[in-house]
Amino acid sequence: MLDAARQLPFFYGSISRADAEDFLKLAGMMDGVFLLRQCLRNLGGYVLSVVHDLIIHHYPVERQLNGTYAIAGGKPHCGPAELCEYYSKDADGLCCTLRRPCNRPSGFDCKPGVFDNIRENMVREYVKQTWKLEGDALEQAIISQAPQVEKLIATTAHEQMAWYHETISREEAERKLYSGAQPDGKFLMRKRKEKGTFALSVVYGKTVYHYKIDHDKSGKYSIPDGTRFDTLWQLVEYLKIKPDGIVTMLKEICPNASTPQVVAAVPPSLPKNRQLASSSDGYTPEPFNVHEKSRILPMDTSVYESSYSDPEELRQRKLFLKRDDIMMDEEELGAGNFGSVKKGVYKMKKRHIDVAIKVLKMQNENEKVIKDEMMKEAGIMNQLDNPYIVRMIGVCQAECLMLVMEMAGGGPLNKFLTVKKEQIPIHTVVELMHQVAMGMKYLEEKNFVHRDLAARNVLLVNQHYAKISDFGLSKALGVDDSYYTARSAGKWPLKWYAPECINYRKFSSRSDVWSYGVTMWEAFSYGQKPYRKMKGQEVISFIQSNKRLESPAACPIEMYQLMLDCWIFKEETRPSFEDVEARMRIYYYSVANKTEGEATAAAEDMKN
Ligand code: AMP
Repeated sequence: MLDAARQLPFFYGSISRADAEDFLKLAGMMDGVFLLRQCLRNLGGYVLSVVHDLIIHHYPVERQLNGTYAIAGGKPHCGPAELCEYYSKDADGLCCTLRRPCNRPSGFDCKPGVFDNIRENMVREYVKQTWKLEGDALEQAIISQAPQVEKLIATTAHEQMAWYHETISREEAERKLYSGAQPDGKFLMRKRKEKGTFALSVVYGKTVYHYKIDHDKSGKYSIPDGTRFDTLWQLVEYLKIKPDGIVTMLKEICPNASTPQVVAAVPPSLPKNRQLASSSDGYTPEPFNVHEKSRILPMDTSVYESSYSDPEELRQRKLFLKRDDIMMDEEELGAGNFGSVKKGVYKMKKRHIDVAIKVLKMQNENEKVIKDEMMKEAGIMNQLDNPYIVRMIGVCQAECLMLVMEMAGGGPLNKFLTVKKEQIPIHTVVELMHQVAMGMKYLEEKNFVHRDLAARNVLLVNQHYAKISDFGLSKALGVDDSYYTARSAGKWPLKWYAPECINYRKFSSRSDVWSYGVTMWEAFSYGQKPYRKMKGQEVISFIQSNKRLESPAACPIEMYQLMLDCWIFKEETRPSFEDVEARMRIYYYSVANKTEGEATAAAEDMKN
């Protein structure tokens, strides 16, 4: 359960009011004894239960549109912990100050709420059906996009529910409910003709009762004068466990036979872009919208899944591509050690895809050496398949050696952040760095070391989608090896290298973690250069004397702490990418949830 309060020992999760009172009674009913529990009515809300004069008071804590938390009429706080801290010093309208937390008894875990379980299952089903994903691609999509998908679900999920009947008249609703058995609690929900309102029709004692559901300005749904909910499906779930003013609890669904099987998450104006990529004039950029109105998720792009995920294309797959199938533009996307990277289009069996083509410089003196290196890079890339890593399509030996890759047209992360600094909020940086952590976790699992992780080698597909690139220095480790020892030092990116790389030429996933820390620093400082004026040797002495880069100005403390952990001198005590990804994920979900309110408010502003 990912909840902003989950770390608080006095948070019980989704327990009932009666259970909360039992716990407080067991704790002795002293003045100021308190606990916190999840609120069933609003997404992310809580209830604070406090004892005073042997009476238990329950205060709903709502999450506001701007992402803060407040007790009705009280001051806003950035999280539930801060709110409790505040009321422990000042009663400020409560019955008394919070004096003693009533902590969970040992062995009693936070109780997951009915919505936590539903939400988890819904996210899975939604992603699976909307993007037709399976296996790893599905798991990665869920992990990386859960907050965004939850937002989509919150606003559209009712349309997929069997109890939802679009616009049908009251008479039609009654006809449906009266047909067949008529047990108490048989229900359906329908859209009313008046815009933005719905009705709940419920059977009780063989009679159908109708309740109008309002959708107020703040976006909440309620039966008039009833409890207000963030979503229609929450209202229904709540009424299944508590009648809350209606004639009976909701029980049996009166199903809508035409409820769509496929969840339409992506608005019709945003088709799967993989079909878009077949434009004959070559390059069709992935949607890239800094002033985002409709958010494009990685799964909406053509490069989320491998171009070879289609079995028919996979059957045709060969390492060496035919020159005739490659169309190369003159335009350069960038330049690397080998030569240049050009835009192009690759003709697959069923469609054309945008590609980036790394082209070997012609008539180079070291052509043989460089060719070998490029083939090694191709050999590594050929073994990797992850949404957060640039995939290789194949190589081609024609007028020159070409390495054909998926297109990540947004350019390197450091450049993007330098230019777009004003438009990119810190939670977007967190989101992108979480994706990099996912890609690196995959490499760690596959026993590959990257050896050149840096913001310049993180390419963007769009502003919410990053991919790790440049496998020129990468190595596949042996099955039983945990590190690679370089025979001699080369032209190395020293500022990104861990001490053991420099001192012993020893490279492991843990040394990639060090580089990840430096990449994080670059990202959170919006593209600044690490150890700016220092020379390589100076950086080495700086690190040896136990100094580290300072926190970038706008960097959240949790993120700087993670950087410092990535820069632990001894590699054995440094976190792994498994740890790094988990920490990034927790922080990313917490900020994504906090900004959910802001997003809703912004959407409201746009409507007005
Ligand atoms: P590299 O030689 O891999 O460092 O690439 C040099 C530059 O080419 C990068 O900084 C990017 O600007 C561009 N580039 C490389 N690979 C791609 C790709 N797959 N998609 C788009 N641009 C790329």
